[in-house]
Amino acid sequence: MSAFIIDGKSIAKRIKEELRPKVLGLAEQGKQPGLAVVIVGDNSASRVYVNMKKKACSELGIYSEEHALPATIRQDQLLDLIRDLNRNPRIHGILVQLPLPDHLDEQLVIETIDPAKDVDGFHPMSVGKLMIGLPGFPPCTPAGVMELIKTTGISLSGKECVVIGRSNIVGKPQAILLLRENGTVTICHSKTENLAEVCRRADVLIAAVGRPEMITGEMIKPGAIVIDVGMNRKPDGKLVGDVHFESACSVAGWITPVPGGVGPMTIAMLMKNTVQSANERA
Ligand code: NDP
Repeated sequence: MSAFIIDGKSIAKRIKEELRPKVLGLAEQGKQPGLAVVIVGDNSASRVYVNMKKKACSELGIYSEEHALPATIRQDQLLDLIRDLNRNPRIHGILVQLPLPDHLDEQLVIETIDPAKDVDGFHPMSVGKLMIGLPGFPPCTPAGVMELIKTTGISLSGKECVVIGRSNIVGKPQAILLLRENGTVTICHSKTENLAEVCRRADVLIAAVGRPEMITGEMIKPGAIVIDVGMNRKPDGKLVGDVHFESACSVAGWITPVPGGVGPMTIAMLMKNTVQSANERA
């Protein structure tokens, strides 16, 4: 058996194409969606992500502005910038590229963003809304994963869903989104015992660990949907996921590749949240 490959790149493209007429419609009413991207310091991975986000904006006709700040910026200066962006009517979404340098308080920065412009979905208000099922901005990566699962046509209702990883940006919100779809959800982490056994129960297995190729074929239930959120750079420069693709492919029913799986979806969902924000402000 060889798993069906879920093509995140083309699914992300389709989602962005669907946004295009909405952006155009808003622009015609003088309400062009706008995204502000804040990047601090010179983290090379962050630079790549920021460039990809700006490119997606320009392809869709979304206004974007970049605020590239030196690594030495003071906390109060960064917070002042965010407050300015909160007040700026051209801006509907504010994204602060993480991680921030150590001297900056990441949580305080996130909490300073106006929740109405929190297109990353990291503000405690957005997290709370997600938790209790109110409309808001879901974090982009887990929301993108849900779109990928949707394309399999398989209902999550009553299915065993296992999420490996419990970070605030991926694992936890992912679990909540799966629960919303009536999945029976288990969250695993570094203290989980018998990880392989738990994974083998999963009809839907989502790996968000940050450990290259740690999920192998023998940890997967035959026919399962396997979503690989991990993005790990091997010493030889190759980008790999948390799932050992080759062995997983021979067991899983569906699988996402790395690259070309979850990554493009994260950006598509950011665009979606930004357009939604502009639409709600309109
Ligand atoms: P974090 O480092 O914040 O979280 C990793 C999680 O994995 C933690 O909950 C940790 O457990 C758990 N973990 C670590 N080791 C093990 C283990 N041996 N067994 C079981 N669980 C373990 O990472 P993120 O959530 O931020 O990211 C996860 C991965 O996803 C990374 O590779 C990242 O690059 C990628 N990513 C990809 C995105 C995309 O757009 N494609 C977006 C965001 C992230 P504990 O809590 O106990 O420490």
